[in-house]
Amino acid sequence: MEIKRGIPVSPGVAIGPAMVLDAEGFRIPKRYVAPSAVPAEVRRLEHALDRARDETLASERVIADKLGKETGAIFGAHAQIIKDPRLSREIIALIREHHYTPEYATSQVLRRYAEIFEHAGAGTAARVSDIHDIERRILRSLLGEQREDISHLTSPVVVLAHDLTPSETADLDPHQVRGFATEAGGRTSHTAIVAGALEIPAVVGIGRFLTAVSGGDTVIIDGNRGEVIVNPDETTLAQYRHTQEEFRHFEESLVRLRDLPAETVDGTRITLLGNIEFPTEIDHCLERGAEGIGLYRTEFLYLDTHRSPTEQEHYEAYSHVVRAMAGRPVVIRTLDLGADKLAEDLDGERERNPFLGLRSIRLCLQHLDTFKTQLRAILRASTLGPVSIMFPLISTVMELRQARMIVADVMEDLDEEGIAFDRGLPIGMMIEVPSAVIMADQFARVADFFSLGTNDLIQYTLAVDRNNPSVANLFSAADPAVLRLIRMAVRAAHRHGTPLSVCGEMSAEPIYTLLLVGLGISSMSVAPHSIPEVKKIIRSIKASDAARIARKILALDNARDAVNLLRGEAHKIMPDVLT
Ligand code: PEP
Ligand code: MG
Repeated sequence: MEIKRGIPVSPGVAIGPAMVLDAEGFRIPKRYVAPSAVPAEVRRLEHALDRARDETLASERVIADKLGKETGAIFGAHAQIIKDPRLSREIIALIREHHYTPEYATSQVLRRYAEIFEHAGAGTAARVSDIHDIERRILRSLLGEQREDISHLTSPVVVLAHDLTPSETADLDPHQVRGFATEAGGRTSHTAIVAGALEIPAVVGIGRFLTAVSGGDTVIIDGNRGEVIVNPDETTLAQYRHTQEEFRHFEESLVRLRDLPAETVDGTRITLLGNIEFPTEIDHCLERGAEGIGLYRTEFLYLDTHRSPTEQEHYEAYSHVVRAMAGRPVVIRTLDLGADKLAEDLDGERERNPFLGLRSIRLCLQHLDTFKTQLRAILRASTLGPVSIMFPLISTVMELRQARMIVADVMEDLDEEGIAFDRGLPIGMMIEVPSAVIMADQFARVADFFSLGTNDLIQYTLAVDRNNPSVANLFSAADPAVLRLIRMAVRAAHRHGTPLSVCGEMSAEPIYTLLLVGLGISSMSVAPHSIPEVKKIIRSIKASDAARIARKILALDNARDAVNLLRGEAHKIMPDVLT
């Protein structure tokens, strides 16, 4: 039995026989063609490129229907690369000059592209997997054969791969693929995003482990804890079957909670909202009784990274969300691009320290056209329902004032053009940098509301990269420094009557939900699949117990003791909730 740990990106427990996809995909040997065969081989390549492009466009349509236009756009971008005359020119040059086979020439050119992306630094991992996807697509077309086809499985499996490309992930049949785990990938990779939207248990970023697994081995994927167990012993297997059963019952029991309020036993009402990346996730939110959208991460409109979305594309996405939420509030966060987020910065420049660099609101304030395009679309959508604008990564009061001024400029433009919008829409900010907490009293005079982004707040407080597995042990929401900052922000918000919500992953973890209630938080925004579980916890606890536990926790000087104490207390007051 072997246990591997990675990053959980979609919850639940899957048990099944392993289907191992090889690490390299196709391995193409160096082969040559006779000089006289070159023209025919070039034609064969051209046909293969045409076929690959047509298939990719077909995938775009299928995926757009299944998961929405933004996800489908990934394949639109692939088709553009396949169609690019530069690509065919480069491959054909290798066939003509070196007499390589089209297969070898293709793999040479695309591996060079992948290497360029790989060395381009942070934020490009998703692009590398896109290039591998394109390579496989063209090679399949040339070879006329399929890599193990994971879209048409006839019996249940657990898929283990070095990396799944976005198209492979989106193609997975959730009825047969019980779960998947990959050696590569991070929380914000395309693959992780698509996995979350499909809602099958998944763990990514495990590191090398495939050599230890053979096809057919029994594998457990624990998407709650981010663990993969290969060849479990009988006791572990029995335990996990039990957990799986419990989890299923638990999920079923949660359905009944949909229309009940998120209220503690002693009557404290908590507002429970959903975090979304794609407009299609609205259904997941509504099915689970979200009272609104507390965080719409609009940067995922940039999945098609070859160009910026138009105002109309922004507007279509926002208007869909606002209409579907039918009068419930929607907080639209302006672009949070850069660092670990999908696109490189808009200038295509490499930064030595992207997490501290030109990202997020800073990027928008330097690219006013892009920023204003988005703001216009948000303002236009504000006539359709209660919309708020939220700025990410605000670190100084001046920055917030500047961003608000841009909104005022855009409002003026719309007025001049006679375009309607909600003049009074709330404009708030993420608190996700320690300086924003320290200055929360001053920020409260400029912001209409706050949302605590604990993911980045932990990263910047403890100086620990949220995506780096080597320092993952330091990344803890229970760290006393983080908890003190949260308490400071909550107190400042209370003093000024500024509404405050929490939208980082912390609020979706059972033991922290309890602590956050204890710290006086009255609004939380979580991934759609976590809504029922968080509600169940809120309905199982007393706010007075939570406050007592929070006081105890705040007196501790380290994260480990805090987690142990929280676990113990959580078990005492909500033994029927998985903690
Ligand atoms: C956060 O930082 O906590 C947050 C919610 O934003 P994101 O995860 O998109 O950076
Ligand atoms: Mg953040």
